[in-house]
Amino acid sequence: MLETKENQGQAWIKNQVMAQGLCTGCAACVGLCPYQGFYRDQTAIIHECDRTWGRCSAYCPRGQVDLNGLREGMFDPVDLTPELGAVKGLYMTRASDTKLRDQAQHGGTVSTLVALALEEGLIDTAVLADQEKDHSSESVAVTDPSLVASLSGSKFSVSPTLAKFNELSQGDPSRIGVVATPCQALALARMRVNPQPGDEARVKNLELVIGLFCGWALSFRELKRLIREKTGAAEINGMDIPPSKHRIMELQTDKGIMEIPMTEVQACVRESCRYCYDLTCEFADLSVGSARSPEGWEVDRGWNQVLVRTEKGQELLDLARSRGVLEFKEVPRGNLDKLKAASLGKKNTCVAQLEEVSGRKDDLIYVRREELLCQ
Ligand SMILES: Cc1cc2nc3c(=O)[nH]c(=O)nc-3n(C[C@H](O)[C@H](O)[C@H](O)COP(=O)(O)OP(=O)(O)OC[C@H]3O[C@@H](n4cnc5c(N)ncnc54)[C@H](O)[C@@H]3O)c2cc1C
Ligand code: SF4
Ligand code: SF4
Repeated sequence: MLETKENQGQAWIKNQVMAQGLCTGCAACVGLCPYQGFYRDQTAIIHECDRTWGRCSAYCPRGQVDLNGLREGMFDPVDLTPELGAVKGLYMTRASDTKLRDQAQHGGTVSTLVALALEEGLIDTAVLADQEKDHSSESVAVTDPSLVASLSGSKFSVSPTLAKFNELSQGDPSRIGVVATPCQALALARMRVNPQPGDEARVKNLELVIGLFCGWALSFRELKRLIREKTGAAEINGMDIPPSKHRIMELQTDKGIMEIPMTEVQACVRESCRYCYDLTCEFADLSVGSARSPEGWEVDRGWNQVLVRTEKGQELLDLARSRGVLEFKEVPRGNLDKLKAASLGKKNTCVAQLEEVSGRKDDLIYVRREELLCQ
């Protein structure tokens, strides 16, 4: 069982999170002091620290987080659903810009919303992820909306997004938007709702969180090995798991598309992702994933599903509609239920994995069972 008194500084992170294979690489503990660093997809302790309190541990998503307290602090109670957290609405969208659609991961909704938020002055800076040549991910601060499209596409190894947010938020006051995976959004929610003493002004710079649905991320080293084995070369232009062929991963190479069976890809999943309970990024202003209709996968290829969770998220989506930068299509009946079932599936898998590791039904290590479903 995780030692529950979590804000005990670096020692807690080292012993209770990293040593137990729970660290998600969200990088919330990086950049707030010089003793934690990030290399490729790993958070690393550069110097031991004996302080018994620290901002490093205060925001970690692998503490026994008071999920209901965060839900109360962020969302309208009438919007809360047990399986998906807050839902103001479910939409199906894609970028109106066909060029962006071609280079984005699915429909280009995330890039469109980020560029719009910058253009309209809703945010001054966006924290996005870039792909390095060696397949690791890097975080990038963008202020020019015309650069957003060049950073579209999913990077399947974790990005030090929150280290970049920590760095920026300690500078001059500005409105920062972050594109975040669910573990990163949870850490940001902890900052938003319970900023540590002296940290309030910094955290106020967080203006918008656009969440990504996330099934898992891949270990940088394992991903690199797999790509080298499969392509014989180190460079690829993109990767995707098309919903229509969900048993394969597609690698876009200069020689064309290569397919890798998911059984081989699964072996590269980060250990910590096996213990993750959030599929739809429940602590964001709005969350975006691929569209998956009951009528069949191909029907909605190239479209996104968007769960709006806060007023701010709704305003941004409505603005995108009124400016004509996003196309909307009717959400098929049954999609919300399908999403709920998928979200529940990830929570159940997480519970089973944690029970197996702890060897006890009553010990979910870092998760409070009664808070997994929002009720
Ligand atoms: C690791 C990972 C796993 C995912 N798993 C699923 C899944 O199981 N099911 C599903 O429906 N969707 C999943 N997604 C989300 C999906 O891949 C798309 O990001 C989403 O559908 C939005 O598509 P889009 O075309 O609007 O995005 P785009 O317009 O292409 O924009 C994507 C944005 O995400 C940012 N980004 C890319 N990679 C990362 C990263 N690692 N960390 C932080 N920001 C990043 C980019 O900088 C860009 O701004 C996953 C994404 C990631 C990164
Ligand atoms: S804050 Fe994030 S990167 Fe740091 S120990 Fe926790 S999970 Fe790992
Ligand atoms: S599966 Fe969970 S822990 Fe892994 S990257 Fe996605 S949100 Fe983070």
